[in-house]
Amino acid sequence: MAKELVEIMQNFTLSSKGRGSTYLDLGDVDDGIMDCQDSLIGKIKGEKIANFTGVKKFVTVAWSYPKGLEVIELWPNLFQFTIPDAQDKERIWLRGPRVTDNQILVLREWEIGIEENDSAFNLAPLCVQFWNLPLHWLTKSVEKKIGAIFDEVKDVIIQQTGGKEGKHMKILVQADISQPLLRGTTVQMNGVNKWLSFRYEKCSDFCYSCGIIGHSERNCKEPAVVKSGQHQNQYGPWLRAVSSKGSPQKENNPKI
Ligand SMILES: [Zn+2]
Repeated sequence: MAKELVEIMQNFTLSSKGRGSTYLDLGDVDDGIMDCQDSLIGKIKGEKIANFTGVKKFVTVAWSYPKGLEVIELWPNLFQFTIPDAQDKERIWLRGPRVTDNQILVLREWEIGIEENDSAFNLAPLCVQFWNLPLHWLTKSVEKKIGAIFDEVKDVIIQQTGGKEGKHMKILVQADISQPLLRGTTVQMNGVNKWLSFRYEKCSDFCYSCGIIGHSERNCKEPAVVKSGQHQNQYGPWLRAVSSKGSPQKENNPKI
């Protein structure tokens, strides 16, 4: 903001009224803080500008009709959600669905200036399935340990049966989505390396070249350098978990 102010002062010939600074006391913004403190700020990370009515309808239904919900569009793809009921707010903050029109809605609790802090919206919840696990690794403690490669593990869910999907585990994590999606990880035990592959549930659009959420391959500014013999796209639809009724997409899987 300081840079912006300097530019304005340099670019315009300001009248004395324009130059005159107004001084605000903390008490002047009390009402504004009261209005904001029950709110969540949500940023949609994607190339499409989300339609206000569509977002309002999505959150109302997906968050199970929170009492007194108010939605304000602050900026294209930036929204303020006021949720007066503390339990509703907590539930939505922790678990509320956040993918609309294949774009992720990253939520943060309101704090002063957050609407101007783009990096505040880099941490987002992702539901990650772990595949290729030996049966005796299917425990919460093992998954928590492996999940430590993400920024935070929120929950571990053990699938009781494999069903049509096959046996796997899933964890709810907070991940830095300004970085490429992790395709898997190697785990070493007794000197033997094992590759675990990841699938992401209800995953928003991501770039098949660099693996970052929020833009397409066509608009990628840092496409992956592909070495000879490597798969053309380092990322692809195989990273998406299909709905629990189906089975994971196996075609085009480059066997990473
Ligand atoms: Zn990219």
